[in-house]
Amino acid sequence: MIINKKYVFNRLMLLLLSLIAGCNEPSGEQLDNIDNSDPEYIAGETYYGRNSYTEYQPGNLPIIIGTPHGGSEKPEEIPDRTWGTTVKDAYTQELARIFADSLKAITGKLPHLIVCRLHRTKLDANRDLDEAAQGNGHAGSAWSEYHGYIESAKDTVSKYFHGGLYIDIHGQSRRPRIELGYLLDDENYALPDSILNGEVYVNKSSLKALAEFSAADFATIVRGENSLGSMLFTYGYPVVPCIEIPDPGTEGYFRGGYSTISHGSRDGGTISAVQIELYKEGIRDTAENRARFSGIYSRTVVLFFKEYYGLDLITL
Ligand SMILES: [Zn+2]
Repeated sequence: MIINKKYVFNRLMLLLLSLIAGCNEPSGEQLDNIDNSDPEYIAGETYYGRNSYTEYQPGNLPIIIGTPHGGSEKPEEIPDRTWGTTVKDAYTQELARIFADSLKAITGKLPHLIVCRLHRTKLDANRDLDEAAQGNGHAGSAWSEYHGYIESAKDTVSKYFHGGLYIDIHGQSRRPRIELGYLLDDENYALPDSILNGEVYVNKSSLKALAEFSAADFATIVRGENSLGSMLFTYGYPVVPCIEIPDPGTEGYFRGGYSTISHGSRDGGTISAVQIELYKEGIRDTAENRARFSGIYSRTVVLFFKEYYGLDLITL
């Protein structure tokens, strides 16, 4: 297994947390064997973490796709989580894989794809370690591998590009609309663009680096006519935020979670992030719908890069 320095750091943190918690289930909380060699990931290959609980397909595009809630593996060595959400985001792993294929078909190049193959009853990879693994060492190892893979992908993207985009793929059943999360709170969207463009909102967003790089206003990137939301809307998907639906309202909206915070640019770096929450019927429910949506979303992301990153992913 290949790991990186952040992984080792996370393992040390995990050990520390275990000691503090005074846990007494040695089989689940011993450190798993790890390899300290530096990672040499090759685009087009597939790498797996311990017991294939996690998977990394390195790429050569400045796009990183994460799928934390679409896994189905339920190994006996990891007890079920006892608190927090345990419902799987159905078919999001399948959709993420087709989305990666669609990007390849359009650009001739590969996005980075990171998959958590564990069911959410065993690990929630979009939470901090404490809630994610709930004291189990094997689940904690998988969490460290998953986020270590994303960090490796970010390092690669940062090495070759002036910016990149991390896309965290989710499914929701609250209402039939796509929700794009950039870490803005629902009430922020009620503000006019002139106020939303202020430093305070740019600085709290997972798009901070992109907003600072791009000549476009922040609000234009978030909900203007060439925003991810507005382009998806033109294909008939109800989506917020976009130019037609600029405000999600206050009855519940997914603003972006742990991975969007950790892997976007709010707290530094050049990789920006979006969490996409997909409703099921018409998008995730059938192979045909997953393929249709993935094809459209791929084209949307390619156009978004050309517009705001100044990068033509097709002619790179
Ligand atoms: Zn989710």
